[in-house]
Amino acid sequence: MRPWLWNLAQRYRLTGWVSNDPQGVWLEVEGERGALDRFADAMQTEVPPLARLDAVEVTPIPLVGDLAFVIRPSSTHVGQRRTQVPPDVAPCADCLRELRDPSDRRYRYPFLNCTQCGPRFTLIESLPYDRPRTTMRHFAMCADCAAEYHNPQDRRFHAQPTACPRCGPQLELVANGHRLAEHDAALEAARQRLRAGQIVAIKGIGGFHLACDATQNEAVQRLRQRKRRGSKPFAVLLADVATARRWVEIDATAERLLTSRERPIVLLPRREPLADAVAPGQATLGVMLPYSPLHELLCEAMPPLVLTSGNLADEPIARSNEEALTALASLADAFLLHDREIRVRCEDSVVRCDGSWVQPIRRSRGYAPRMIRLPGPVRPTLAVGGDWKGTICLADGEEAWVSPHLGDWEHPQSVSAAEAMIDHLATLFSIEPQQVVCDRHPDYFSAQFAQRYAQQHGIALLRVQHHFAHALALQAEHRFPSDRPMLAVVFDGTGWGDDGTFWGGEWLGVQYGQYRRWGQLRPLLLPGGDAATRQIDRLALALLQRSGEAWSDDLPCVAATTPHERRLLAQLLHRGIGGAVSSSVGRWLDALASLIGIRQVVDFEAQAAMELEALADAHMPAEADFSATLGPNDTWIWDTTPIVRCLLAALRRGETRAQLAGRCQAELVRGTVAMCQRIREHWPFDDVGLSGGVFQNVWISQRLTQELTALGYRVWQHQQVPANDGGLSLGQAWATAYQHDSATR
Ligand code: ZN
Ligand code: ZN
Ligand code: FE
Repeated sequence: MRPWLWNLAQRYRLTGWVSNDPQGVWLEVEGERGALDRFADAMQTEVPPLARLDAVEVTPIPLVGDLAFVIRPSSTHVGQRRTQVPPDVAPCADCLRELRDPSDRRYRYPFLNCTQCGPRFTLIESLPYDRPRTTMRHFAMCADCAAEYHNPQDRRFHAQPTACPRCGPQLELVANGHRLAEHDAALEAARQRLRAGQIVAIKGIGGFHLACDATQNEAVQRLRQRKRRGSKPFAVLLADVATARRWVEIDATAERLLTSRERPIVLLPRREPLADAVAPGQATLGVMLPYSPLHELLCEAMPPLVLTSGNLADEPIARSNEEALTALASLADAFLLHDREIRVRCEDSVVRCDGSWVQPIRRSRGYAPRMIRLPGPVRPTLAVGGDWKGTICLADGEEAWVSPHLGDWEHPQSVSAAEAMIDHLATLFSIEPQQVVCDRHPDYFSAQFAQRYAQQHGIALLRVQHHFAHALALQAEHRFPSDRPMLAVVFDGTGWGDDGTFWGGEWLGVQYGQYRRWGQLRPLLLPGGDAATRQIDRLALALLQRSGEAWSDDLPCVAATTPHERRLLAQLLHRGIGGAVSSSVGRWLDALASLIGIRQVVDFEAQAAMELEALADAHMPAEADFSATLGPNDTWIWDTTPIVRCLLAALRRGETRAQLAGRCQAELVRGTVAMCQRIREHWPFDDVGLSGGVFQNVWISQRLTQELTALGYRVWQHQQVPANDGGLSLGQAWATAYQHDSATR
């Protein structure tokens, strides 16, 4: 802000000063009245791309008689309002030009940046934002860089992370404990190793990546095995949009997202296949364009590169060189390191789009820590989210900050990563939590952490029901008024319900900070609990049994099991014990995927549902009769038995898997609409919210929105935080506004 305001003051010949403090930017200007007005206008209309003006307050003061306009040193005095911390963004056009210009002193320098681009969040240690409080403090500026830094006419005027090959961070290549190359030679060596099929760990902006050639199946396979990745898809780094078009379909929205400053991974429809092992069974491919000058240079004239987080399974990603050299020792053949410290982890963001439909799947680099303004005030709060796709949220007043993606809480390292993130955000935004919020699931690691945190800090612990938190996350990001009734349709994997069963197919009436469960999917016994989430043929058999259908050998899910397994399963189901009961739509889709023969075993959550979406013929009709009955607590229970019968008939008629998969989606949409209509007969509402991981399915989200809109409903979907559990922490934080001590309920 300061360099920009300095230039603006010059334009209107104003005198005075500008300064930063943790509350924001302060300035005093003196000049002719007309010039002052034009200055104030320009301030609002010409805001630079990385800045965001939340509010401008103007107070007339007596003339002081300043002779010039100056930038005063920052003050560290802590006040009440907060400065925002900018996210890390991709190189700007000017910097890219310099990177490619042989006559420029920053030619091919992988760490160049300016006031308009480069790392911020991951190198800021504390506020106000000045070089001595960033990890760049270890690098003394050379005379040239210092001259630019102090020259108000220069693009790098007060560019805190500015650097050049002479004074800034440098690359090195390490393999087998030896430093093999430096600078450009290190980069070239890394590129050679990648071409030769090796796996290279690369230090980026917010942590380490593991990279390999995406066209060499063997290399990708090796990376999969070493990382214990199962068949979860990898994303690839491509040089530019033109190159990317060869591999994926890119429409205008996709191009805008791919080339945006935030530079997320964008999930797009595949064209030419890369190595089979990159994204097996997927109709989409995650694609990212270079998000730093280093990555620009890395992928020059290279094949597409797999770029995946530098970690084992879902542990937190490696951040420091030391961490990487030990944690990734058995994963990488070589390490491309640099000596700029990463203050805080920030993984790649993931976005999915289709035409105008855009949803975040993982909100991290480029977006975090952008503030989300809540619909109303809350006390200083820490919300810890759920156990998977972890994020934490700190909130105070109407301001909320959701952390970047933290990984899964089950790993001990995740707990320390979360602690570090909480400390960091709490320091940056000077928040001392007076309450901590978690999920109601008694076994969640995140909930246990929250309990310890509350005890250690002597503050209140609140627990918020999982699907209510999903609904409130949606309301929070849209600043949805709490007095307006919304029917929140929450479809996800599983979450702890109020009745001790697992929920996940819910129609929640939300108003005045409370919810009422108006509808649910008819619960299914998940035989053997956790085992059934991997062996989804068990879910299909349970669904058949409940629908009064025989386990006949012609069905793929029956053929996949042994007679012995079926005997055990029959006993379990007959007694109705030895498993969890769940109304989860995610599990129901798994059961259907198994029933129609898509797959019988999954190795990551939502794998079957994603394949079902990939296969589905979008033009199939919904034909099953709608059937809902009023259950206990006046909750409408949607019985999907007619759908199972329809599918079995279609399967036996010899319909293709694509047709069958299309039927599953169409039936889910039609039944969901019918449930909304049924509920409206008893409770008036015009707004429908869609949340939960199932709504990452583009077809289901879009079709449901169309049908509900045609019936006159307003439909709300996620735009800022993910529909999956990555959004829970925001919803939990907002739940505290109503002061309901859920712990006692
Ligand atoms: Zn730049
Ligand atoms: Zn320099
Ligand atoms: Fe969930």
